[in-house]
Formats: sequence, structure tokens, C-alpha cells
Amino acid sequence: MHARGGSAAASGTLYDATMTVDPASLKIQLYPASILRERCEPVTYTDNVRAVAQRMVEMMYKADGVGLAAPQVGLPWMLFVADVPEDEGRSSETTPPSASRGAEVFINPEIVGTAGIPEPMAEGCLSLPGVLGEVFRPPTVTIRALDLEGNPFERTATGLLGRCYLHEYDHLTGVLILDKMDDRELRKNKTLISSLERRAK
Ligand SMILES: [Zn+2]
Repeated sequence: MHARGGSAAASGTLYDATMTVDPASLKIQLYPASILRERCEPVTYTDNVRAVAQRMVEMMYKADGVGLAAPQVGLPWMLFVADVPEDEGRSSETTPPSASRGAEVFINPEIVGTAGIPEPMAEGCLSLPGVLGEVFRPPTVTIRALDLEGNPFERTATGLLGRCYLHEYDHLTGVLILDKMDDRELRKNKTLISSLERRAK
């Protein structure tokens, strides 16, 4: 998930299930790359998965993002990373938290449940540079996953943090913010979306 514009090179799908992934080869995939529409598969926790997750954290920071999902770096894996910094109105100390305490890694995440009436908030995406539009999401989510060390954990989050988890989880099912924006929000972003589509041709 992304708050402001940025740039990254587009490239084809990099992953072959028989290969070990070189974390240094990963690149941010831009819409309309087909990998962004795939349903991701759970992964077996290995040193390579750990190295990829660590590289994704670095890439997220470099791109000034608050979340990054594996298909966004070309991998159809159930994996995403997040770090929503504390800010005015966002804290890692509240229950549930609305900000991260540092980089968070979610390997094979599952949504345990959501709570509350869906609320709108403007969202961006590192795979859709410059696009920004309102998306409705439930305010609170509970998610279960393995952490960077392969240990299971469960976490409930709200505010921008909960929204970020839901945005990143959507990527693992091939869903983009474009699918959740209404016609008005899509019209506002029409020029940017069209230029991304043209670039890819
Ligand atoms: Zn995104």
C-alpha cells in the first residue's frame, strides 16, 4: 500500500516453482502485470522465503510504502510485509493498534475475521503509482500468519494498519484497489490508469 506517488520498472513474471528465488532480482510489478491478478499459493517456510521477505521489507521502505505483497514483486506466494509508522492519530500502543512497532512479516496469512461497518479512506498502491481513490473496508481485522522466523501469530489491527493488512491480503487473491473503487473514484484516476495500460503495450 502506498501513500504517495513513486516509480518502479515493470517486468514479466520472474517466478518458477522449481527455482530458488534470488531476492536481489525482485522488481516491483506495475499494473496491468498479469501476476497481480493471480491467486497466490501458500509457501513452505524456508531460508529462501525468509530472505525474500527481508528483501520485500527493504523494497517497501525504498518505495516509501507501508505494505508490499509478494505478487507485487513477481511471486505468486501467500506473503506480505507491512510497516505503518506511528503518526497523529495512529499508535502501536492502543488495543487494537493502528500503527506498527516496526516491519511486520505475514507468511501464509489467513483473515480470521473483520468487525465494524465498512468505512471509506483514500488508498494508493505501489503497483499503481499515482493512483489514489476511496476504498471501503471494515475498520478492524484479525489476521493469523507465520512471522519472519516461521512462528505462528495472530494480530488484530484497526485504522490504517488494519486497512493495510486488508489491502495487502487482497493482493494475494488477485484483487486491486481498482476493483473496490466506485465509478467516481475510477473516473478521477482514469488518465493515470490508461497511461499505465498503454505503457504495458
Ligand atoms: Zn497495493
